[in-house]
Amino acid sequence: MILKERTKPEELQLLQALQPRMELEEKDAQNLRTLEKGYEGEVQFDHWFKGYQVESIIINDLLLEVNGTLFQIDSFVITQDRLHLFEVKNLEGDYYLDGDKFKTAAGKEIKNPLHQLSRAESLLKQLLKELGFYIPLDPHLVFINPEFALLQAPLKSPIILPNQMNRFMKNMNRVSSKLNTKHTKLAEALLSLHIKKSPYSRVSSYDFSMLRKGVVCGECGELMESYNRYNFYCSHCNSKETIDSAALRTILIYQLLFPDQKVTTSIIYEWVNGIFSPKTIRRVLKHNFLVQGEGSSTFYE
Ligand SMILES: [Zn+2]
Repeated sequence: MILKERTKPEELQLLQALQPRMELEEKDAQNLRTLEKGYEGEVQFDHWFKGYQVESIIINDLLLEVNGTLFQIDSFVITQDRLHLFEVKNLEGDYYLDGDKFKTAAGKEIKNPLHQLSRAESLLKQLLKELGFYIPLDPHLVFINPEFALLQAPLKSPIILPNQMNRFMKNMNRVSSKLNTKHTKLAEALLSLHIKKSPYSRVSSYDFSMLRKGVVCGECGELMESYNRYNFYCSHCNSKETIDSAALRTILIYQLLFPDQKVTTSIIYEWVNGIFSPKTIRRVLKHNFLVQGEGSSTFYE
């Protein structure tokens, strides 16, 4: 049973919303690529993990804190006699372990994912102890990308390579499990400790006036310019979308980027660069939001 589904990280949503509307600073553009790649890997992991058929509770994307130290868990799986901690990496290419160091085939050192995993493992163990749960914990580092290779992989390690995933899943499925209230309590305890708003967000500042106005294609991220009374057409990827759907999507992006600002017909009219009439905007807002105030001070929540 999946108790917590994975959602796209807010930082990634923000950067994806900003990208077509401004020139991202190099560090933001780099961060966007990393987050996109990471999230893609996690979605693939979830797809693979659908093959797990044992009675269990799955919690995705946990952000927890122990003694003021934050740590993130890509996937946590509770079974009868064992807890599984999964760290997912979407690296691609040849890598090798040089003692304690993790390097590309060209010899460039990158952050060792094994260190990240053991950090999460020890913090999680500490937290489980504080909560009074004593079920053994197995850490796993999954390299999800089929184009990843670890040359001279150590024999005994938490690493699961792309060509080991099938066998790993078979073995996982061989272990039977029956859950009781103790397991449910653990799941609820962890979920209640999950930190919703990540303090990690490092997106550079932006304001309304500096962003490109208009309607961005939901498929390819380019500005959409051709439309008729009913539909929008993207000349870049040939996708089609109804006016109402494009309007709602564009309003939701405004809300994501400016959570503290009131949503009004006039600000959205400006946001879409006058592409929708105020009448259309009002209709979409009325259908999807709660109307507050009246007359010229009307806004929507
Ligand atoms: Zn498009």
